[in-house]
Amino acid sequence: MAKEKKGVRLEHVSKIYKDPKTRKDFYAVHDVSLDIKPGSFVTLLGPSGCGKTTILRMIAGFESPDEGEIYLGDEAINAITPNKRDTAMVFQSYALLPHYNVYDNIAYGLKLRKLDKETIRRKVTDILALVGLEGSESRMTNQLSGGQQQRVALARALVLEPGVLLFDEPLSNLDAKLRVSMRTEIRRIQQEAGITAIYVTHDQSEAMAISDQIIIMEKGVKAQVGSPQEIYYQPVNEFVADFIGEANFLRGHVAGKTGDKYLINIDNNIVEIPDNGYSFEGGDCTVVLRPEGAVLADAGQLPCEVILSCFMGSYQNYHVMVGDTMIKISVFNPKNKKIYEVGDKAYVVFDENSIHIL
Ligand code: ATP
Repeated sequence: MAKEKKGVRLEHVSKIYKDPKTRKDFYAVHDVSLDIKPGSFVTLLGPSGCGKTTILRMIAGFESPDEGEIYLGDEAINAITPNKRDTAMVFQSYALLPHYNVYDNIAYGLKLRKLDKETIRRKVTDILALVGLEGSESRMTNQLSGGQQQRVALARALVLEPGVLLFDEPLSNLDAKLRVSMRTEIRRIQQEAGITAIYVTHDQSEAMAISDQIIIMEKGVKAQVGSPQEIYYQPVNEFVADFIGEANFLRGHVAGKTGDKYLINIDNNIVEIPDNGYSFEGGDCTVVLRPEGAVLADAGQLPCEVILSCFMGSYQNYHVMVGDTMIKISVFNPKNKKIYEVGDKAYVVFDENSIHIL
């Protein structure tokens, strides 16, 4: 459907704003370089205020970078106005025309481009089928549900056949269940349309579910770029590990090496960890352990005491103390497993391949 899939490149892009309270300049986005491949679905993810919307708005042309250059395909676009850029944006607020029906909302941009009536009808009909709104042409948009309005907003952007589709938290106004079904829909439509998509969210499960690549932002700086699996299993620092999913951090010290395994001292217990090319500066390290990467047993690597044991249906949730460190463990399918109660002594047993060292 799209004319041409376009990649997006940012080269050392920064945006400086003035803090309204202190009146001092600060970097909302600082020295961010990105290479977004044509046809991929890329998500900018991070806590509120980390600069993700500012990056999206600079790509759309609503803001201009103070430093660096943005490329759409091979073209440098800093000096090009938003309406001349080959991008379209889907907003959180939908931004539909309230007194127009579905057809006219979608046709609006095509009419501005002065396409003939028959071409407009064909394009709008095709897009309505793609977003699952056939037969809704004459309904007024203010009489539609939130999910239907978001489909119209998506159709209105897609019908322009942009090289790149930009999404600014498009599902934030929908309830949790609808968000989950709409995100799957957005992914399907993006793949069917074969379009490059850049999507802003602060919802990590949304990002994991739909993205080819996730860009994690922290305070205006790019913290990590990778596939959902890379970000989850090989986070580059504690911020990323903690932001994506849950993580336990165990402080350790390298006590030696036998063959291809490091011996790590954690709270005076020696555990063996495979050498995955880690470099240990100064010998100290942090072991990242996901709650589902460990179980409790009567013997194992780290002796512990249970301080919380909670049945959650599909898993048993434990909090245990290893020395002074609290560790969260989720044991899935607990029905036929031994359940440890508060006060029990046990051992944390982890699969050495499911941990990651920082
Ligand atoms: P959120 O998830 O809350 O939308 P975000 O990650 O998208 O956050 P941005 O909207 O990009 O963050 O804002 C980054 C920083 O720049 C924030 O500190 C914000 O307050 C500030 N900021 C954004 N727009 C302006 C502006 N026009 N003038 C001054 N400061 C701004």
